[in-house]
Amino acid sequence: LAEGLQCIGCGARMQIDEPEHAGYLPLSALRKQIDNDELLCQRCFRLRHYNEIQPVELTDDDFARLLHQISATRALVVYVIDVFDVTGSIISGLPRFVGQNNPILVVANKVDLLPKSLNKQRLKQWLQGVLKEQGIQAVDTFLTSAKKPQNLDELLEKIDELRLGEDVYVVGVTNVGKSTLINRIIKSRTGIQELITTSRFPGTTLDRIEIPLDDGAQLVDTPGIVKRDQMAHALSEKDLKFALPNHEIKPKTYQLNAEQTIFIGGLARFDFVNGERAAVTAYFENNLMLHRTKLANADAFYDKHAGNLLQPIPAQGNTLVMHEFRTSEKSDLVFAGLGWITVPAGMHIRGWAPAGVNVLIRKAMI
Ligand code: GDP
Repeated sequence: LAEGLQCIGCGARMQIDEPEHAGYLPLSALRKQIDNDELLCQRCFRLRHYNEIQPVELTDDDFARLLHQISATRALVVYVIDVFDVTGSIISGLPRFVGQNNPILVVANKVDLLPKSLNKQRLKQWLQGVLKEQGIQAVDTFLTSAKKPQNLDELLEKIDELRLGEDVYVVGVTNVGKSTLINRIIKSRTGIQELITTSRFPGTTLDRIEIPLDDGAQLVDTPGIVKRDQMAHALSEKDLKFALPNHEIKPKTYQLNAEQTIFIGGLARFDFVNGERAAVTAYFENNLMLHRTKLANADAFYDKHAGNLLQPIPAQGNTLVMHEFRTSEKSDLVFAGLGWITVPAGMHIRGWAPAGVNVLIRKAMI
């Protein structure tokens, strides 16, 4: 399929086999781009659509070393992600780091934030598809909420079943709720508190927390990887509390005409540039006020109301950066970590967010 195609960004020959080399694009993305008539390799795609900021996957060589140590052993990798911020949860190259042969169990946390009516089976399939595009093949996907874990025993059974007597390493980026989950696991095992030992990963300055399992193996909690392109880094502590969801989000649906704009507080903006009149559905914290206005007036509206009617605003001031997309299927326009807007196929849209915050398009979750 990639034969004879070139990236319009860097001119490299497109290829689907070697992620480390020029011109790489996963097959599914290549298919999509051919449909959209816009051929960009993964690197150029990110440059163009992600505001030139390559997400920093690992802030620390230590972390690479740590993950590499996992690859040198036989273990089950429990990879915790946040269902509300799947992109922000991605550790790219995870399978390479932890070893191709070590199974990965994906624990999708914070399901309490999604509408209860959601079909859980479909959500799992959707998640596996998204992860697969990132090269992550999970042996299983488990949905949970570390805040109110009704199915913690089930999770522990699943872990026991998959680890085949080996150690378990729990990995994840920061803010996905890994610590909350680990704490629940510790509490659920009475008397285990005193047994926790902290030690260092050999050759690094990173701590490991070891929780003994019944057969002498260990469940090892690893430090969270800091990802910079999360909304969490673009907001003050107080605004974060206000803007990020704590409870089940109530989707809001709008009938929009072309050339209309929706502001998401003062933090993000959605432009419907062109397309048939359509229903779009917004998934954000219920606190955040959404304001609809005309696209032609949107800049002036923001200048006038940012910080009062439109609240909160980014910690770094009022500039929002624009990202442009065309949808070829029912898609989510994602403001990484803040929420998303589901739009039908055939729309020309723009998403605006604070600099450094990922804005991207994905196959619709719901
Ligand atoms: P870590 O950095 O991955 O260890 O994440 P933490 O355990 O510190 O959690 C990050 C934030 O997410 C905290 O504000 C938690 O209260 C919140 N959190 C963790 N688990 C859940 C969950 O299942 N649902 C919801 N709604 N919030 C959660």
